Amino acid sequence: MKAAAFEYHRASSAHEALELFARYAGQAKFMAGSQSLGPMLNLRLARPAHVIDISGCEDFRGVQVLDHSIRVGACVTHAEIEDGLFESLRAHPLQQVASRIAYRAIRNRGTIGGSLAHADPAADWVLAAMAFNADIEIMSAHATRRVPMREFMLAAYTTVLAEDEVIYAIHFPVVSSQARWGYYKFCRKTGEFAEASCAVYVDPVTLTARVVVGALDAAPAELSEIAQRIARGGLACVTLADIVTALVPITPNKDQIDRRLYGNAVMRSLELALGSEDAA
Ligand SMILES: Cc1cc2nc3c(=O)[nH]c(=O)nc-3n(C[C@H](O)[C@H](O)[C@H](O)COP(=O)(O)OP(=O)(O)OC[C@H]3O[C@@H](n4cnc5c(N)ncnc54)[C@H](O)[C@@H]3O)c2cc1C
Repeated sequence: MKAAAFEYHRASSAHEALELFARYAGQAKFMAGSQSLGPMLNLRLARPAHVIDISGCEDFRGVQVLDHSIRVGACVTHAEIEDGLFESLRAHPLQQVASRIAYRAIRNRGTIGGSLAHADPAADWVLAAMAFNADIEIMSAHATRRVPMREFMLAAYTTVLAEDEVIYAIHFPVVSSQARWGYYKFCRKTGEFAEASCAVYVDPVTLTARVVVGALDAAPAELSEIAQRIARGGLACVTLADIVTALVPITPNKDQIDRRLYGNAVMRSLELALGSEDAA
């Protein structure tokens, strides 16, 4: 099947994109890398009369280091982060996250903002953005606002974005040089969406930790109690059985086999973050 006919508009700035969107209110959709929208158009799950391509807008691109955060433009592609095009993201954990998304052809066009807006529960950026406590910068014709990632995604494929709003950028807090990070996902084969995933962030300086589980039926969810134990006592404080028990409330529709898969994704992320020798 091919997409139903639509009119294509290539915006040259965020301002123009929002203006076009307002002009065709109710009939338009933004397009970034088209790696999710393209299939939805072809399957006719989306049938907008107007498609507004924002991938060429300079103001949606680029990475800046601000006082407390690294600001990543919504249309920065997975491949640009993977390839270390931006100095501030070189050797940053986000580089590793980007390199493991799908296949290179998809990473060449897919964007971080498009992925967050699409809000696939198995996507890599929704998980990483939560683990890093990122803020989403959102823009409409009238205002801009910032929403913490943990409030941004409401459910599978559902976010707080209003019809006329666009993701402008993502702010990742600057992390201490001692912060530790672990990320693990189980995929049936390389390049496929995760079946179970986990991202772990531990800062020994502030004694904070976040353990976020992804590829659920809903938005990624935190295992706060496990995180608190890790922050205080390290990896030796938790077992796989503890993790599987902690998973029960956030995996109501899963069976024990699934929970062990998620549990192992969590355990492996913890080991990557904190070192397997700690696990003994
Ligand atoms: C075969 C395949 C395998 C994949 N595997 C993975 C994987 O393993 N992990 C993973 O994370 N992803 C995976 N993806 C998804 C891929 O990462 C896409 O890049 C991503 O989901 C969407 O980004 P995009 O820039 O292509 O957005 P688009 O497809 O252009 O847009 C997606 C949706 O977001 C909206 N949108 C786009 N940009 C914005 C914005 N700035 N503000 C507001 N709304 C916006 C569009 O209107 C549309 O509704 C896969 C995709 C395919 C086709």
